[in-house]
Amino acid sequence: MIYLHIPFCKQKCSYCNFHFSTSLKSKDEMISAIKREIGLRKEELEIKNLKSLYFGGGTPSILKVDELQSIIDEVLKYFTFDSDIEITLEANPDDLEKNFVKELSRTSFNRLSIGTQSFFDEDLKLMNRAHNAGEAESSIKRAQDSGFENISIDLIYGSPTSNFEIWKQNLNKVIDLQVPHVSSYALTIEPNTALNAWISQGKIAAPKEAEQHQEFFYMTDFLKDHGFDHYEISNFGKSGFHSKHNSAYWKYQEYLGIGPSAHSYNGRDQRSWNIANNQRYMNSLNNNILAKETEILSEKDQFNEMLMIGLRTTWGVDLSSLKEKCSAELLEYFHNEIKVKLEDGFLEIENNHVKIPEKHWFLADGIASDLFMV
Ligand code: SF4
Repeated sequence: MIYLHIPFCKQKCSYCNFHFSTSLKSKDEMISAIKREIGLRKEELEIKNLKSLYFGGGTPSILKVDELQSIIDEVLKYFTFDSDIEITLEANPDDLEKNFVKELSRTSFNRLSIGTQSFFDEDLKLMNRAHNAGEAESSIKRAQDSGFENISIDLIYGSPTSNFEIWKQNLNKVIDLQVPHVSSYALTIEPNTALNAWISQGKIAAPKEAEQHQEFFYMTDFLKDHGFDHYEISNFGKSGFHSKHNSAYWKYQEYLGIGPSAHSYNGRDQRSWNIANNQRYMNSLNNNILAKETEILSEKDQFNEMLMIGLRTTWGVDLSSLKEKCSAELLEYFHNEIKVKLEDGFLEIENNHVKIPEKHWFLADGIASDLFMV
C-alpha cells in the first residue's frame, strides 16, 4: 500500500503539529517531486498489486481533482490496483464543494476521510478550522449525494469549548447523517501549537482528563449500540467499512510513504522517513536524490512496536507473528511479563492473540509500555 503526503493546508489549526505549509506557491513543483519519488522508490514495495492508496496530509483536498488524478496516473505507471482497492482522500469540509465532489466521484477515489472534528461552531473556532458547523454537515451530504458511501469522519472530544451534552449531539449527528466510519481522538495539547500557548497564558482552560474519559466511554457504548465495531482504540466502523489502509498498518504490513515527512516500513526490519521540509525535499528530488533517513529495527524495536500497535486493536498481538520475529529469550521475557496482567484482567488471550479487554483500552499505551523490552 502507498501513503502520499500532500504538505499544504489553508490555515494552521490551533492543535496541529503535523508537517505542512500554508503557502501554495510551490504546489506544482511539489507535485512533480512527489511523482519523481514514486518512480525512484517503486522497487521498495514487494507487493506491486496495491490494496490501498491513501492521500493524507496536510490537506490533500486542497489540490484540484486533475492534480490528484495525475498522481494516481503516476502510481499506475509502476503498480496495479487490486479489484478491491481502497483509494482514500483526506478532505476538509470547506473543500468539498459541489463541483469538486462531483468531479471526484468520476475518478477512482472510493473513500473520503473528512476532517469534520465537530458540528459546533464554538469548537471549530477554538480549533481554528477553516470550516463552520454548516459546512461540517453539508459536506457529508454532498459527498453522499455524489455517490460516496465509504465515508469516515474525524471527531475530536474533550475540547474546552465542548461538554458532555455537546459531545452527545456530535455523536447523534453521526447516526443522523448515516456515516459508516468514525475516527475519534481526545484533544491533546502538543508543543509549539497555538492551543498550548493559550493554555500557558491562561486564556483557555486545559482539557480535563476525567471528562475525556467519560466522553470516550460514552462514545464506545453509543457507537456499538448503533452497529459500529470498535476495532481500534480510536476507530469505529460498520461492517465492510473498516479502514483497509490503517488496518494494514496495525498488522505490520509493508507500506511506502511518499512526500515530505512520510514514513515507510518494509514489513520486516526497516523503517524510513522523509525529511519534514518542503523546500529541501523538492531540491533533493529535483536532483533525483531521495530525501530520507533509514533505520534498521532491532529485534527489541520490532517487539516493542508490535506491542504498541497491536494492543490498541480489537484483534491484539498475534502470538504466531511474535514467535516468528522474536528469539526464544524475548518470548520467555514476554510470557513472564504478561502473567500478572493476565491474572489482573488487563490482558486476555483469545484465538492465539494477546489483547487488552475493551474496558481497559484507555490504558493501552501504559500497558504496552510496561511490557516493553528496554
Ligand atoms: S487541516 Fe489537518 S493537517 Fe492541516 S493544520 Fe488542520 S489539522 Fe493540521
